[in-house]
Amino acid sequence: MNKVTIVGSGNWGSVAAKLIASNAIKLSNFHDEVRMWVFEETLPSGEKLTDVINKTNENVKYLPGVKLGKNVVADPNLERAVKDANMLVFVSPHQFMEGICKRLVGKIRTDAEGISLVKGMEVKKEGPCLISTLISNQLRINCSVLMGANIANEIAMENFSEATVGYRQNKEAAEKWVQLFNTPYFNVTSVEDVEGVEMCGTLKNIVAVAAGFIDGLEMGNNTKAAIMRIGLKEMIAFSKLLFPSVKDSTFFESCGIADLITTCMGGRNRKVAEAYAKNRGKRSFDELEAEMLKGQKLQGVLTVKEVYEVLTARGWVEMFPLITAVYKISSGLLPPSAIVEFSSNSHNRI
Ligand code: NAD
Ligand code: 13P
Repeated sequence: MNKVTIVGSGNWGSVAAKLIASNAIKLSNFHDEVRMWVFEETLPSGEKLTDVINKTNENVKYLPGVKLGKNVVADPNLERAVKDANMLVFVSPHQFMEGICKRLVGKIRTDAEGISLVKGMEVKKEGPCLISTLISNQLRINCSVLMGANIANEIAMENFSEATVGYRQNKEAAEKWVQLFNTPYFNVTSVEDVEGVEMCGTLKNIVAVAAGFIDGLEMGNNTKAAIMRIGLKEMIAFSKLLFPSVKDSTFFESCGIADLITTCMGGRNRKVAEAYAKNRGKRSFDELEAEMLKGQKLQGVLTVKEVYEVLTARGWVEMFPLITAVYKISSGLLPPSAIVEFSSNSHNRI
């Protein structure tokens, strides 16, 4: 019997819990109970978030107004939450993943399988490290990924969307993840290209920051489409330079072009970058994130720093003008308007 724990309980983590809970209760090969680890916090009412989730069946801070399913149990104790699970779903902002993995070493079942819904990467002395690799290496488990055009609030409303599971060799494990996530309104397929799927989810957040700058500068749809096209080319080129096995076809799955489009149209990275450009860079991303997202976290601005570190270490900066521009603008080294000058220099670089 499979037992699932979700490690994370933000906006997407809560929607993942809802999807999984609706299937776990129906499928005979899964335990009904789905545990969700909550990074505990005290609400303005003085109550603990975990207690409120367990009382109301709602994550009132990160997904208000949506019932998660009676079989979701919120647990503030990470080690206890994962102890009995053989299927671990990781869905935290990427900057917390290394600390979470360290805490889990030796605390999980040896037969556990993981899946990462985390969009982002770590850069270590030895080079870049995908989050699924971080999980696999630290916890010694097989780790697939699930990425897609998945703005969490829309899926919470049960509006139709799609997602892609990326797996390495273990097709059987991938099929079990598809079974756990797939619903009539959430269509999940799998591809054997874990790096390709994860690179798509990671890099599109950088392009979304660029798209937000264009919106803030009120430059219109043609410019935004141009930025998205150039961004996609840089996503493909960078992914293949790092991982030559990445498949072209992956960029046409939900995790690729579809996620790029939805995030550039309606995501949080876009929204905060728009405000940054409107303020001509006078208010920092940290300040805008805290004010606009109320505890939710941006990934694109951290990711571009990490990717830029790789570009400089490997001598690739010239080849990636859009990524470079997003890095320099978000670090305050250039004004938001530089996004167009840089990107229009992209001809024949890659
Ligand atoms: P979120 O940004 O909504 O929430 C932030 C979460 O981080 C909260 O659960 C908070 O409790 C937790 N947190 C704060 N400080 C922490 C700490 N020190 N240690 C551990 N946790 C801490 O989270 P999310 O939207 O669920 O994002 C998780 C991942 O899912 C990200 O990589 C994101 O890119 C990805 N994702 C998000 C969406 C979406 O629409 N929200 C969609 C697809 C993928
Ligand atoms: P944002 O973090 O920019 O909201 O993107 C969400 C997402 O990954 C949609 O697939």
